[in-house]
Amino acid sequence: MRFHKSELAFFAFTFALLMASGLLAFALYVSDELSSNYGLRAFTHGALVIQGAALLFGTLYIYPLLRSHAREEHKLRKMTANLSERSETLEHVALTDGLTGMQNRRYFDDALREYMEEFGRIKRPIGLMILDLDHFKTVNDTHGHDVGDEVLKAVAKVLKDFTRYHDVVARLGGEEFAVVTPNMGASGLPGFADRLRKAIATIDILTDNVHLRVTTSVGVAVWNGDETAEELYRRADRMLYQAKREGRNRVCA
Ligand code: GH3
Ligand code: MG
Ligand code: MG
Repeated sequence: MRFHKSELAFFAFTFALLMASGLLAFALYVSDELSSNYGLRAFTHGALVIQGAALLFGTLYIYPLLRSHAREEHKLRKMTANLSERSETLEHVALTDGLTGMQNRRYFDDALREYMEEFGRIKRPIGLMILDLDHFKTVNDTHGHDVGDEVLKAVAKVLKDFTRYHDVVARLGGEEFAVVTPNMGASGLPGFADRLRKAIATIDILTDNVHLRVTTSVGVAVWNGDETAEELYRRADRMLYQAKREGRNRVCA
């Protein structure tokens, strides 16, 4: 059983009161002066009676009150802890893609804006790539939606494995993904995007005794320092469509 601070203080107070009563009673018993002096004896008796009354009052009234307050406080604290744990879970769910466990579109939008604010201040580059799987509808139509889901999960894993911990990797929806690469400019980004493209092309999913492979087209843009997040996104998206037009399975920067 654990006691609240107020309960411990009450025990200390009661103990002090008991000690004082004991000492007074002892003095009353052994002291010649007390037993001979009627006024002093009456005073000591009176003090003992008051102490006894205080002890009774404390034990029967104050202590139960303290105990119920302590219980209520404990309950409240537990409830607040549960609530904040629950809201953390809800926030996690709101920002995560259910199928792949990656960040979702909403997280991506916020993260891109935040990175642009921070990196604009220190004048460092930010890269953005948008990836879209090629002919994914055919994968679903040929092998079924479940196999399509397996492919999406495998692509998500490759993207996670090949990116750095401060990169933002998100599933924007369907078979479209995005990677935000802080501190990576025009010299590094197209090469990095091509490594991702090649890694996705090596994914091998065995289904119905066939080895299924997927390719992806990637649009790449580096933030020019002036444009808004939407403008940067549109530029990367235009590059993605150029990659599709030029025959897919390629990076356009
Ligand atoms: P393109 O090369 O032009 O990108 O062709 P595509 O077939 O990939 O593009 P399209 O937009 O026509 O098709 C996208 C498909 O992605 C259609 C839809 O069935 C599939 N898809 C979207 N979300 C999911 C999902 O969560 N799971 C699965 N299995 N398929 C999905
Ligand atoms: Mg596609
Ligand atoms: Mg698409």
